[in-house]
Amino acid sequence: MSETAKSRAAALAHLRSRDFAKGDPIPLPLTMASIFHSPGDATGFDQYGRFGNPTWHAVEHVLGHLEDAQCVAFPSGMAAISAVFFALVKSGDRILLPSDGYHTTRALAERFLKPLGVAYDVRPTSSMLDGGFAGFRLVFAETPSNPRLDICDIAAVANAAHEQGAILIVDNTTMTPFGQRPLDLGADVVVSADTKAINGHSDVLFGHVASRNPDIVAKVRDWRETAGGIPGPFEAWLVHRGLETLEVRLDRMCSSAETIARRLKGHRAVSGLRFPGLEGDVSHNLARAQMERFGFLISFELASEDKAEDFINNCPLIESATSFGGVHSSAERRSKRGDAVPPGFVRLSIGCEPVEELWQAIEASLDRLGD
Ligand SMILES: *Cc1c(COP(=O)(O)O)cnc(C)c1O
Repeated sequence: MSETAKSRAAALAHLRSRDFAKGDPIPLPLTMASIFHSPGDATGFDQYGRFGNPTWHAVEHVLGHLEDAQCVAFPSGMAAISAVFFALVKSGDRILLPSDGYHTTRALAERFLKPLGVAYDVRPTSSMLDGGFAGFRLVFAETPSNPRLDICDIAAVANAAHEQGAILIVDNTTMTPFGQRPLDLGADVVVSADTKAINGHSDVLFGHVASRNPDIVAKVRDWRETAGGIPGPFEAWLVHRGLETLEVRLDRMCSSAETIARRLKGHRAVSGLRFPGLEGDVSHNLARAQMERFGFLISFELASEDKAEDFINNCPLIESATSFGGVHSSAERRSKRGDAVPPGFVRLSIGCEPVEELWQAIEASLDRLGD
């Protein structure tokens, strides 16, 4: 981790103390309120729960500190992605999406943007630059892509998109601001499903939009306030709590993933292993250049659907679950969610368990699969 990332991590737990008065609670109080005492002039304070709430402001403050940008919180990752689309595109615009990214983003474009006159094209993440960006209002990238873990060059995509007058949105869910910093590389907007590693305890859905462009932030905030897709204060409180341990969780998860990916690569039951941290991975050089960490997701194939189900369901230290980024290691056979991958394709999310115990459980479960 770079020095700036370390100082950002160190300051995170003390952000609130700058404004403390004697007797204030050190941890964040939860404010459950839809209305606030509002005499006189109606500006400059919380008045109504759809406009703002002290618990959101606190979580947005921490997210803003991590992103070095203004952040707008949402009740899910898809709510954050929807807000960016609906706030920033209009009828007649054309947008570009990854063909191999999170499938609901494409479904949103197909089922809700297209009928409103917003056209979209798709392109694989690994060849995002091919064909250029002429005619696009907005380019959306997801790197590493979920679930195949292909990578695109964020700085190169940002430059090429800007030359054509397009803005670049990056879905940074798989990495978090400690793992990759798209805004530093030139992206205009980051979106994130904080449901995953940022909250990290698999008990909340949440999302955020981050940008250093005040016009974009104002439009996204206006969309939230007007459309009404707002996060609940309790969810915001839980995410605030999760953020306090993000750096230590992510460090453990990414380090363990490096160890486990290397060992999985040598296991006879495993083929098609993808992990950007492996020297032999097609994405490795680019990953080294643009990512702070290599992430905690590993993907690979087992010989059949049955073997993949057997591995996922019977490994005692892996939970069979969709989603990823939690403290518990988990895995899913992605073809059952409609991803264009082989039936034995497994996405493994490394959690916070001690790595040697985790590897022993994984190895024993793979050994049991037989030939
Ligand atoms: C999960 C996920 C989302 C959607 O997040 P929700 O909180 O489920 O709405 C978006 N993008 C990526 C990459 C994801 O993994």
